[in-house]
Amino acid sequence: MRPIDKGTWPLDANLKKIEFNSWGEAKPYLIKNTGRFCHFCEMKLDNSPGIEHIKPKALKHSPNLQNHWDNLMLSCVYCNSRKTKDQIKLYNYYWPHKHNTFKALNITNLGVIIVDPAIINPSQVEKANNLIQLYGLNESEDSSGGIDSRLLARLESLSNALERLNEFERGLCTINAIIANASSGGFWSVWYRVFANHITVRDALIKAPTFNGTMAACFNAASRLDPIDRNPGASDPL
Ligand SMILES: [Zn+2]
Repeated sequence: MRPIDKGTWPLDANLKKIEFNSWGEAKPYLIKNTGRFCHFCEMKLDNSPGIEHIKPKALKHSPNLQNHWDNLMLSCVYCNSRKTKDQIKLYNYYWPHKHNTFKALNITNLGVIIVDPAIINPSQVEKANNLIQLYGLNESEDSSGGIDSRLLARLESLSNALERLNEFERGLCTINAIIANASSGGFWSVWYRVFANHITVRDALIKAPTFNGTMAACFNAASRLDPIDRNPGASDPL
């Protein structure tokens, strides 16, 4: 999952926090700051992107969360429909705008999202797993028994990325073409993993304007741009 910086609460011309009358009004700012992708499954959001409330908006004791910038994330319809209305404790989960979720999660060759095997601390495994469960990120079937749409789209991106890798290594594909292909379907993490041995492509993926808000500090410039802890010094540095 791409680690993102969605920015601080947007300001108006007088440098005052914009008061959103509905959560939908935050959408253009989220898209501008992070690109047009689901913050959770990373799918490209072509038609009216949804807004996911991290803390459920319906809770009686948290009425201010409906239009609160910190509580709003861009989401596809699938990730946006997985959570219940139950209260959640934020610290039991990793979040793409707070943690290095690329380091926490990995993707199998079959396109399934898993906790990265390199994560062995039980508390970290639990938080990463909680995130997967909360949004059903590892589901392979939808409610009608068909293949989960996110898995299908992820597999398509994986296939495209492997094709571009093959071409790139034979000098038949430019970095610009790779970025264009990645941007059209989404799944930044898939592309970043497939091009693990090509630091120039990784660098371009981090800096691509279409993937605005990718948290560059989550990747180690001194070591092949591999993921590093986002919160060094914190009790849980990931
Ligand atoms: Zn999604």
